[in-house]
Amino acid sequence: MEAELQSLKSEALAGLEQIDQIAGLEEFRVKYLGRKGEFAGLMKQLGQVDPAERPRLGQLANSVKQDIESAYEQRQAALEAGQGPVAPLCDLSLPGRVVPVGRLHPVTQIMNEVCGIFEGLGFAVAEGPDVETDFYNFEALNIPPHHPARDMHDTFYVSESVLLRTHTSPMQIRTMENQTPPLRMIAPGKVYRCDSDVTHTPMFHQVEGFLVDRKVSFADLKGVLSVFISRMFSADTPIRFRPSFFPFTEPSAEVDIGCVICHGSGCRVCKQTGWLEILGAGMIDPEVFKKVGYDPEVYTGFAFGLGIERIAMLKYGINDIRLYYENDLRFLSQF
Ligand SMILES: [Zn+2]
Repeated sequence: MEAELQSLKSEALAGLEQIDQIAGLEEFRVKYLGRKGEFAGLMKQLGQVDPAERPRLGQLANSVKQDIESAYEQRQAALEAGQGPVAPLCDLSLPGRVVPVGRLHPVTQIMNEVCGIFEGLGFAVAEGPDVETDFYNFEALNIPPHHPARDMHDTFYVSESVLLRTHTSPMQIRTMENQTPPLRMIAPGKVYRCDSDVTHTPMFHQVEGFLVDRKVSFADLKGVLSVFISRMFSADTPIRFRPSFFPFTEPSAEVDIGCVICHGSGCRVCKQTGWLEILGAGMIDPEVFKKVGYDPEVYTGFAFGLGIERIAMLKYGINDIRLYYENDLRFLSQF
């Protein structure tokens, strides 16, 4: 019986060590110290042992019981005081807190999509400064001082010869100055014009694209833009090229797609024409090539420019460009 008492003691003390929550203590108490517990079970045997041994075993039994009880109380105090791994500080059964997931701005999404389509066609991406010189923004693009085309640009001037770029076309010049053909580049970025209404913001995004090589023709331009439009909108989107004028391309064209809202039957967005203008394009003017030292007799090329906000408006059916920049989460979280 002596051995049984000792093993009960060590088993109980080891078991107590394992308990790390207050809730577990009660189970321990019932198992070892309860009226029908293991200790009480052993005590029943005390009546059957040799009467001469009884006082000594009784004493031993008492000290074992006291040891277990005091260890139990210490454990209880420690757990209640928060020592050791105690009751969890939070209720694990509560539903978790939802962390709102961020998302890309619709303009960024369309920008990425446009760049992705052209990268798939073998165009490289080039970025340049928002603050430009008059030379890169106008003069090298065949827009000399006092040219009437400057009036269309509503330029923000920093000083007489420094300005916020009014289009991404300066990247054509910067790239052609530093590289030799063949070139296939797109230049995405912010551009600035002093203008604000439902279809204009003082800052907006453009993607400029150009390709320069020997024997590039208008058919190549038409092919590249047709592929772009069919991927950006849908394969059966009608396209038309309208003659237009830009100082840096000759011949020039504006490109329309069939109205994505009314599908050609005429609506307010397309002003009842059934067509929507989405970009400007043309064959790079020989005067531009001369500015960067390319021989226009050897090289030809095309260029195009498109407004990202405009494409996003058409794609998502947005009627006011200013919504993009009001940062209203109810608007932004739809994309
Ligand atoms: Zn329409």
